[in-house]
Amino acid sequence: MSTVLFWFRNDLRLHDQPALLAACAPGTRHLLPVVCLPDEHQVTPWGFARNGAHRRSWWASACQALAQALFELRCPLLVCTAPARTTLPALARAVGADRVVCEDIAAPEEQAEVESLRASGLNVRTLWQSSLLDPETLPWPVRQLPRVFTQFRRAVEHAGLCPAAPLPAPGALPPWPQGVPARYLLDPANVLAAFAGHAPTADARSAFPYGAPPLHGGETAALCHLEHYLARGLPTQYKRTRNGLIGLDYSSKWSPWLATGALSPRTALAQLRAFEAEHGASDGSYWLWFELLWRDYFRFLHLQHGDALYRARGLGPERDTPHDPAAFTAWRTGRTGQPLVDAALRELAATGYLSNRLRQVAASYLVHDLACDWRAGAAWFEHHLLDYDVYSNQGNWLYIAGRGTDPRGGRRFDPARQAATYDPGGAYRRLWGTA
Ligand code: FAD
Repeated sequence: MSTVLFWFRNDLRLHDQPALLAACAPGTRHLLPVVCLPDEHQVTPWGFARNGAHRRSWWASACQALAQALFELRCPLLVCTAPARTTLPALARAVGADRVVCEDIAAPEEQAEVESLRASGLNVRTLWQSSLLDPETLPWPVRQLPRVFTQFRRAVEHAGLCPAAPLPAPGALPPWPQGVPARYLLDPANVLAAFAGHAPTADARSAFPYGAPPLHGGETAALCHLEHYLARGLPTQYKRTRNGLIGLDYSSKWSPWLATGALSPRTALAQLRAFEAEHGASDGSYWLWFELLWRDYFRFLHLQHGDALYRARGLGPERDTPHDPAAFTAWRTGRTGQPLVDAALRELAATGYLSNRLRQVAASYLVHDLACDWRAGAAWFEHHLLDYDVYSNQGNWLYIAGRGTDPRGGRRFDPARQAATYDPGGAYRRLWGTA
């Protein structure tokens, strides 16, 4: 009989949690669930904090909800403010754990975290669980992923691939081990205190006002939001509205919960399929599946290329990567003089969310008009985005910069034309004070 540390990473939920179920397999006598909060002092090479206030606040609310759910199962969550590489070895020694179980994250720093735990002598078992489709079921070994998204999508659809059904949340968990050092104990109600000074902002202009209770970070709010989105029939109009800029309903807003793992993609898709069975499939409901496939594609690209996605040249040939620090500062503070871009950067900083359309416009402007390093822009998005996801952020920035797998060699969006098409009356630019 063993004692297992379950390390929550970007999977802050109990429903559809294969890694947690594996940790509780017969033979596990004691279980200690642990989460390590994002480091608030870490600074990027570009001179700003890595984890901004919006993200930290969103994470806090997801952790608090998870802590409450685990408390009700009589297996409380241990919330640690120090990094996993120092916390977990000490904890494992203190409670006599013989194993750490966690989800697998195929990004370089996250892989290095696991390697450092192994180097300290811990037995770490990782399980892949963040994609909709199981990479083992793809029509090719993941290392031979097609270079173009369209080929990937067509092959997936041609093969009729669909994800396994989501798993129910466990009804009970093994009890805590003896010997948890008192300094680690934090009341679930106090998880937010670990993020003191980072309460959610309530900007009334936000397209995702996460300060309001229905948009809190945990899985209960995630599942309610999903249900409400479907109950109002919004998938049917998704394809028509998804390029909107203002308000909650133009797109699904599933991403903030998918990013922390409070919502499982398999659960989102299963409920979307149930919606289609009841109300009929439509262009809109198909397009949500299409976008979720993009999410998977960027995950599988990491399994295929790993560290290469983090080079300045990405997957492209060796070439210069210019950078203009003054232009970058103007961009990130919303002072480029280009009204649509400035409005977008102001929304991002004020709310931690930005529509897909404006992420594309803002990223394109930084790379193709201001000739700045795409990695600086990716880091700025990471700092702010509630839905920051290492795979989707890196993949989309590479795509716009033309350093990923896009056969067209990059995407430039003309901001004046984008404004005329997507903000014809200027309402968005007026909302953010740039028109
Ligand atoms: P919807 O339009 O309702 O789409 C449904 C779901 O499909 C989303 O929740 C998301 O999981 C997935 N999806 C949609 N578009 C994309 C896409 N282009 N790439 C990958 N998945 C997609 N998305 C993130 O989740 N995290 C990021 O860090 C992130 N960074 C981005 C950076 C740039 C430069 C760009 C252009 C896009 C980025 N995206 C990122 C993708 C996309 O903008 C967001 O997923 C989307 O805006 C989230 O809002 P939603 O949930 O309402 O999306």
